[in-house]
Amino acid sequence: MADAVGRDPFAEDDDQQALRELARDVTAREVLPRAAHGDETGDPPRVAAKALAEADLLRVTIGEEWGGFGYGDVEASIVLEEVARADVSTAIWCQLTYNGPPRGIEHLGPPAMRERWLPAVANGEALLSIGITEPDAGSAVHEMRTALRADGSGYRLNGYKNYSTLGHVADGFLVWCRWPGGEGARGIGAVVVPADRPGVSLTGVHSSMGVHAATEAEVAFDDVEITPDDILIAGDPRSTEPFKLLLAHLNHERCGNASMCIGAAQGALEYAVRYLNERVIGGEALATRQGLQWKLADMAIELESARLLLRRAVHLAGPGGTPPALETAMAKAAANRAAKFVCDEAMQVLGGYGYSREYPLERAYRDIRGLCIGAGTIEAQLNYVGSNVVRGRTTTSPAWIEQRF
Ligand SMILES: Cc1cc2nc3c(=O)[nH]c(=O)nc-3n(C[C@H](O)[C@H](O)[C@H](O)COP(=O)(O)OP(=O)(O)OC[C@H]3O[C@@H](n4cnc5c(N)ncnc54)[C@H](O)[C@@H]3O)c2cc1C
Repeated sequence: MADAVGRDPFAEDDDQQALRELARDVTAREVLPRAAHGDETGDPPRVAAKALAEADLLRVTIGEEWGGFGYGDVEASIVLEEVARADVSTAIWCQLTYNGPPRGIEHLGPPAMRERWLPAVANGEALLSIGITEPDAGSAVHEMRTALRADGSGYRLNGYKNYSTLGHVADGFLVWCRWPGGEGARGIGAVVVPADRPGVSLTGVHSSMGVHAATEAEVAFDDVEITPDDILIAGDPRSTEPFKLLLAHLNHERCGNASMCIGAAQGALEYAVRYLNERVIGGEALATRQGLQWKLADMAIELESARLLLRRAVHLAGPGGTPPALETAMAKAAANRAAKFVCDEAMQVLGGYGYSREYPLERAYRDIRGLCIGAGTIEAQLNYVGSNVVRGRTTTSPAWIEQRF
């Protein structure tokens, strides 16, 4: 850094640096000390989330009108990196707040829906979970069966969502569902349903490899009343546009997912660096071994490459915008892969201690593994990138020459 004479195009401004410092400080005091407990017990990170709320860190992306700071994807990414460096489960709580249902509600929802949910979310008094995935509709989300049927001036919702992160503690659900008469991607829209509405029931909680404190729930919707105020975006049986709008909103979530991967990997790399400098074998620190330095070099290169892709995607979103799909898909795939590689290598250089539950690296490894599946798998991102590149589409990089196929 000291020998750089040019300017980092993604350098953080004063507000962003202050936000990072605040997030780092609160995370060190309130998140890190509770992370192992959450992993052992599966207790949701309510206490850590309350501390983040008290530090105003759950207000990051919600508009000022609703009690938030109105920041964009860059700032969300900064805080997610810092929190995930210590604990991915707590970062997922932030992710749901920044990049989950509240974004959609603010951008697309009717006034009554915004009034009901956004101030409560900004204050840390409400958490919303998102229900897209179904037993027979994961990557092939357009095959979903959860559907509305017309009922007077509103609808009734019936269906089953089997992977709603933190759905067991959520106050409401953003549910993707099919409008009457729709097929495939046509007719898919979304509603927001309070968790205590008759017909909403929790049917199970997953026992997963990682993110134990922010695991996923299975939720059934049995003839749940849907009023016009509950409709986030109406499906249109003749059009795929509402579905495309919902998919575009997922780019916020994908950038948040990538940010958590980068943060967790950063924490793992730094832990490994400390360990290699402190671990003395044969009178010398392990850090002096070139073979191990090369491992650190590869970890740092993978991590920084992915971070740069992510920075570009979130900066391209601009204030109040949405990260572009192609750059986001590249960033998510790169961050997922970098996190897998870095956390794995960090465990390896700690030897037996890396594999031990007494050290945080095996938890980070298990946690980021789930992030490689959630918010669209790595393969789903590759499908999107490949299907664009093969048609001659370009990224925002001016070095690409656009071709049409
Ligand atoms: C930690 C975690 C949190 C999650 N949180 C939520 C949440 O909050 N809300 C929610 O709705 N869902 C959530 N999910 C579900 C997640 O979005 C789905 O698991 C994911 O989209 C994959 O769907 P699937 O599990 O049905 O796998 P499938 O779609 O059945 O895929 C199985 C495998 O095949 C690959 N595959 C599928 N289709 C193709 C193809 N066309 N080409 C190449 N490969 C393909 C996939 O990449 C995957 O490796 C979460 C999942 C995890 C692990």
